[in-house]
Amino acid sequence: MNRPVFRFAPSPNGDLHLGHAYSALLNQQMAASVGGRLLLRIEDIDLARCTPQFEAGIARDLEWLGIAWETPVRRQSEHFEEYAGLLGRLIADDLVYPAFMSRGEVRAAIAEMEASGKGWPRDPDGAPLYPGLDKQLGKRERERRIKQGDPFAWRLDTDRAAAGIGAALTWTEFSDVTVGSVRNVAAEPELWGDVVLARRDVATSYNLSVVADDALQGVTHVARGLDLYSATAIHRLLQALLNLPEPLYHHHRLIAGPDGRKLSKSQHDTGIAALRSAGFSPNDIRRMVGLDMT
Ligand code: GLU
Repeated sequence: MNRPVFRFAPSPNGDLHLGHAYSALLNQQMAASVGGRLLLRIEDIDLARCTPQFEAGIARDLEWLGIAWETPVRRQSEHFEEYAGLLGRLIADDLVYPAFMSRGEVRAAIAEMEASGKGWPRDPDGAPLYPGLDKQLGKRERERRIKQGDPFAWRLDTDRAAAGIGAALTWTEFSDVTVGSVRNVAAEPELWGDVVLARRDVATSYNLSVVADDALQGVTHVARGLDLYSATAIHRLLQALLNLPEPLYHHHRLIAGPDGRKLSKSQHDTGIAALRSAGFSPNDIRRMVGLDMT
């Protein structure tokens, strides 16, 4: 029987904090409970913010926590061509379009809509949806603008893509630790509007590369924070469009800071390295995130 495959997939754009420690430890525990494997994937497509120093810090912190992972580690920055290949399939299927509207144009279009008394929909993270006025451009006009060097991003035509799937889109959410019980969740990719799949400066996106890599690495169980719960709808849509296997998902609780607010990479008092220097032990960290088993 194939062993279940779990992964921890941090971005090396800051120090790991208690929330990451919880996620990594939970993946380790779940993998162990079902005799599964644990992979580490470095999600470093943002070359401007990710650094080898942060990546080294991640490895140091995970080792210190007692987490072992398989090597070689997959580094997304080494696979831009593979993501471009998947994007090429979506371009060929006419499911993405070059979006030329600048931030200012987007803001103005939304302000105009709102001024006429209409509300403007926002995505689950609270950002206004892309107005997509340029979706109507004909093929020749698109090609002309691309040729003349107008900046653009490739956006998914989400409504069209979802309509093309035909069947209702769902994902399977598995329960904590035992990885035992599962439930079906209705996926609503339309809530996100036309998401960016590739930009001029970064030739992929989180959504595209996470789906590509989970498939390529044979990941069967994705356990990650609740902040990514709604994004799973986009991942399921991309998997359906690209014919990729569907992993099971578990979205775990988020660890709050001492002030009750969400942790961020800039809050150094909850950084794993800072806690280590302050004399805390790996077991203290387990206790702090509620994973102490003793
Ligand atoms: N790289 C993402 C993060 O650091 C996690 C992606 C995922 O687990 O799907 O938030």
